[in-house]
Amino acid sequence: MSPFTKKDFDEFQETESRWFWQVGMRPNDRYVHALNFSLYVGGPDVIGAQNLGALCIWGGTLPSERLLFILKTYQPTVIWTSPSYAWQLGEKALKAGIDPKKDLNIKKIIVAGELGGSIDATRKAIEDLWGAEVYDFYGLSDIFGACAAQCEYHDGLHIAENHILVETVDIHTGEVLKPGEVGELVFTTLRKHARPLIRFKTGDIGRIDTTKCKCGRTHGRISILGRKDDMFIVSAVNVFPSDIEAVIREQSGITGEYLIRIFEKDFTAKHAVEIEKNADNPKDDDTVAAEISAALKARIGVKPAKVVVHPDGGLDTRSEHKSRRVIDERNIDYNI
Ligand SMILES: [Zn+2]
Repeated sequence: MSPFTKKDFDEFQETESRWFWQVGMRPNDRYVHALNFSLYVGGPDVIGAQNLGALCIWGGTLPSERLLFILKTYQPTVIWTSPSYAWQLGEKALKAGIDPKKDLNIKKIIVAGELGGSIDATRKAIEDLWGAEVYDFYGLSDIFGACAAQCEYHDGLHIAENHILVETVDIHTGEVLKPGEVGELVFTTLRKHARPLIRFKTGDIGRIDTTKCKCGRTHGRISILGRKDDMFIVSAVNVFPSDIEAVIREQSGITGEYLIRIFEKDFTAKHAVEIEKNADNPKDDDTVAAEISAALKARIGVKPAKVVVHPDGGLDTRSEHKSRRVIDERNIDYNI
């Protein structure tokens, strides 16, 4: 958790107001804040929307039925939640006979806490389901609820450079890298009084882009590729679960849910990818598995050892908050 002085907290909320404005929120918007309020630095971000002048509904982590009732009754225009929950909530709405595109009024979905909002295929899938635009925010519980946020061009996330200095460092040597090079993102707070951080290692792998964005904002941008802990090496190829997600979400005939199992065989790391086939997909499981395997090989460079096909709903990955999609079954510690 991040401690704040009064000044820190005010500046945190001012930054959040700026991000909300950046994604197009205006005082006539109705905003539902569907993030956890309990011991979670994203919770107070709702005050940033309130200070901007939007009407704010302090939703928190409500059961889906209650949240859908709010979306239907009060017709909010902006919501913030996790990408996996945005997807599941849209699906639940459809099953309850509510079409998110016609019966609800959500125009913008802010997502954070998972990588999905920066994976184009995932963002597009959520946008198609809701008929709304999805914006990725990136926060650190050690600093602010959102330290960086996408603009209307969705080409990386603008950094709050007046508060945070972002660097990338080599994951092996710690050497500072140039903009554009991929490494671990390291944050230094510039204004925080309560527990300032110097070169705090985020555990996230990404790159910095210092070129001017098409939107005209001059603040640099970060692109996030994945968690350092989630990256695994198969046949000398660095594999990020986000690369696998991007492929899975582009395929037709499957639900888009997935689970990655990393295991060890003959002293070598292998991975299996489990997916769900749509009920109306006429293809047999072996054909679907072969197609997914080929698509993964084409994108990532390595084939999974196995693709396991489940029926719709067969994977237990749906959650009300963050989904667990990677299970590491290796006993040894791969020091990367
Ligand atoms: Zn921009």
